[in-house]
Amino acid sequence: MAHMLVYFFGGGRADGSAGMKELLGGKGAGLAEMVNLGIPVPPGFTITTEVCTHYYENGRRYPDQLRGQVEAALGRIEQIAGARFGDPKNPLLVSVRSGARASMPGMMDTVLNLGLNDRTVRGLAEHTGNPRFAFDSYRRFVAMYGDVVMGLKPERKEDRDPFEVILEDMKRRRGVDKDHELSATDLEELVERFKAEIRSRLGHEFPEEPTEQLWGAIGAVFGSWENKRAVEYRRIYNIPAEWGTAVNVQAMVFGNMGEDCATGVAFTRDPATGAKRAVGEYLINAQGEDVVAGIRTPARLAGDAPDGPPTLERAMPGPYRELLAVFERLERHYRDMQDVEFTIQKGKLWVLQTRAGKRTALAMVRTAVEMAEEGLIERPQALVRIEAARLPELLVPVLDEKSAQEARAAGRVIAKGLAASRGGAVGKVVLHADDAIERAKAGEKVILVRWETSPEDVHGMHAAAGILTATGGMTSHAAVVARGMGKCCVVGASGLQIDYQKGQFSAGGKTVRAGEVITIDGGSGEVFLGEVLALPAPPSEHLKRLLGWADELRRLRVRANGDTPDDARRARAFGAEGIGLCRTEHMFFEPARILAVREMIFAETAGERRRALEKILPMQRGDFVAILREMAGLPVTIRLLDPPLHEFLPQERADIEELARALQKSTAEVAAKNRELHEQNPMLGHRGCRLAVTYPEIYEMQARAIAEAAAQLAEAGVDVRPEIMIPIVGHPRELEKMRALVTRAVGEVLTRARAKIDYTVGTMIELPRACVVADTIAAQADFFSFGTNDLTQTTLGMSRDDAGRFLPAYVQAGIYPVDPFVELDQEGVGGLMKLAATRARAAKPTLKLGICGEHGGDPSSIKFCHALGLDYVSCSPFRVYTARVAAAQAALEAPAKGKQPS
Ligand code: ADP
Ligand code: MG
Ligand code: MG
Repeated sequence: MAHMLVYFFGGGRADGSAGMKELLGGKGAGLAEMVNLGIPVPPGFTITTEVCTHYYENGRRYPDQLRGQVEAALGRIEQIAGARFGDPKNPLLVSVRSGARASMPGMMDTVLNLGLNDRTVRGLAEHTGNPRFAFDSYRRFVAMYGDVVMGLKPERKEDRDPFEVILEDMKRRRGVDKDHELSATDLEELVERFKAEIRSRLGHEFPEEPTEQLWGAIGAVFGSWENKRAVEYRRIYNIPAEWGTAVNVQAMVFGNMGEDCATGVAFTRDPATGAKRAVGEYLINAQGEDVVAGIRTPARLAGDAPDGPPTLERAMPGPYRELLAVFERLERHYRDMQDVEFTIQKGKLWVLQTRAGKRTALAMVRTAVEMAEEGLIERPQALVRIEAARLPELLVPVLDEKSAQEARAAGRVIAKGLAASRGGAVGKVVLHADDAIERAKAGEKVILVRWETSPEDVHGMHAAAGILTATGGMTSHAAVVARGMGKCCVVGASGLQIDYQKGQFSAGGKTVRAGEVITIDGGSGEVFLGEVLALPAPPSEHLKRLLGWADELRRLRVRANGDTPDDARRARAFGAEGIGLCRTEHMFFEPARILAVREMIFAETAGERRRALEKILPMQRGDFVAILREMAGLPVTIRLLDPPLHEFLPQERADIEELARALQKSTAEVAAKNRELHEQNPMLGHRGCRLAVTYPEIYEMQARAIAEAAAQLAEAGVDVRPEIMIPIVGHPRELEKMRALVTRAVGEVLTRARAKIDYTVGTMIELPRACVVADTIAAQADFFSFGTNDLTQTTLGMSRDDAGRFLPAYVQAGIYPVDPFVELDQEGVGGLMKLAATRARAAKPTLKLGICGEHGGDPSSIKFCHALGLDYVSCSPFRVYTARVAAAQAALEAPAKGKQPS
């Protein structure tokens, strides 16, 4: 590597820029860009991600030129800062910060105040005339360095940080409450005790030499790329290990030099709601991580704070105005909401980081819509920016106000914290991340309750329904991560006393043990004892506007899968343009009907079977009436009976006996019949249209029920549009037979009722054979609906009910990079779909094509369907918003190709 390994920024210009995220990491690229924008940033340099890759590929060794380039860059910082690294009179101090391409909050560790030692600290004290500040910086440095670089951690997970313990002890001995009440000599003593702790616990000395400190810290940043927390985070968010991290070395600025100094974090818009106002937190006379660590509860930037500490606006109006101007500048430049770190040193503002702010799905929608309306971006850009898969988060349950009122009246509010991330969550209390995972695996909903969270808790937060912390503010780790995950979260619930040892917490005079149910409200910050009813939130005005824009742009129609009138109502409310899959077997499983269904299955003759079916017919007709009425004016695709019959058979002894009584047979006879119907491979067995090839009466009854329901509604003036769908067709002659059967049955009903109904007959395409002979099947069909759940199963030869045993290993190994039952396998299954679509359309250009598998709600699969020229996708009602937006994104990415498959 003979090229640049180190990129400098400072003094008004930078080597790098925002476009160089891959090389400089997000932080480095952001710092460079801000310098180029003329925003005040302390000078520094970025060691590239290529060095990280080199480091791991070469047995943890650096490229040869690195040392020289680092020394030169350090020299430039010294020049701009007017201080020298290691100078005992006026020492330059630096921070060493990691920065990966994608922001990984808190995953990599930063060391501040590097360059301090027993000699330079005196120089700093003299030069600034502030020994307290010098030793405060020193003790922070020794603790951070001891932890991050030297690896001095608590012995057990539940123990407190060893430096923290010493600090607490010191405060107790001095009879003070707050860190800043300790004197310079106290802090100096603290440094000695910290070093002694390092010596005794690690067996070696804290390094005094600044250059050794620097390289130690650089090595630790690169080393931390492979630590457990970082690896875990990358796994959850699919970040490749090869990306590597950059290292930023930057001149320190100090928020802890006195009362005219401060440090803070802010969002240019509200990350919870998306509202256009700066939201953030700051602490006076504090440094770096104090704000996010949740150790002291910080003050707000602006607004009114009647009983809290003064806002930044009040305390430091000048720097506050400057900060707002920087926000304006950044938003205009990045055209997105930014998350900014800043420090004020003696009244002067410095900006230390900017990145696109993580936000709730609600804020994602609102910021995109409002920025388009402000003219900051175009509408298509607003749409493309939406992570469509996150839209179901907008349906997160919110607490029912009436139920919450009752709980309040009953005195069940036991604490109140900050509403950090919206929604309401009900669950059992857990106090440890591992317990959260365990209980969530067992299907329980849990609320993770902690003093504060740290990166070690991320996996547990992922598993929890909600997160509650006793300390910390709106930008604490818990709040930031929860918002990113779209999880309900309440932070800083003061009054909460957590006892990890006893496995309980107390609040508002109540003790709550792990396992007990609580409810938290991310909208109000309240913590309730017991359960409060939660309901899906109605769509916001911003979402309505966004969906309107999406609907104008998309070509794909969006339908929902739904089996009940409730599903249908929900689907319509979410904007579905029809039902793409109404499964009729769900109607068979109802307790009141299952007996008749079983009678039908056990029937020895066609006559007996007909009699049993006669009992089912009126019930089924009632179902169809309800759904068709709900979907008036829109198409409803009704799939005739699909599952293998064994699914309807009794397994329990008591059920077998009951059935025997009902059939007037012996238990042994019923059990024998049960065995006879047993299949080795039911998913490839007697199911779908095969049922009707052997027992045509079943589909006849269903077709009649549909026709009678349609006729009845039509007579009442309801616009009904049934589409009758035949499952598991692999051969055109199957469909030919079924079509004849269905049209005969429907025809009879309609003739008798003197009704005229527009209905169609089509098939599901879910077998590879059907794809290959799609042209001949098309001749028999009015529509095709790709049933990609079964088509994936039959194409891959992987049973989706058994795939859980081996598929995760496939995904882990990257054989299938994502679960093909979640995201369409475009090469394999998609290849067959393309073949089928091409052949079918060639044979019958008017054929309607859709998809009704789970993939119909997955954005990348939807984009594939768009490219294939399908007419519609059908998905679960909760994913209709996702599909509407993803379909628009697909249209924007691949402008209308007409109906020709690509
Ligand atoms: P993270 O990615 O965890 O936020 P950062 O590298 O951004 O880590 O830094 C941690 C904290 O230290 C932040 O509050 C940041 O603003 C502060 N910090 C980093 N470098 C400096 C510096 N040169 N001067 C003052 N504060 C700094
Ligand atoms: Mg940061
Ligand atoms: Mg199927």
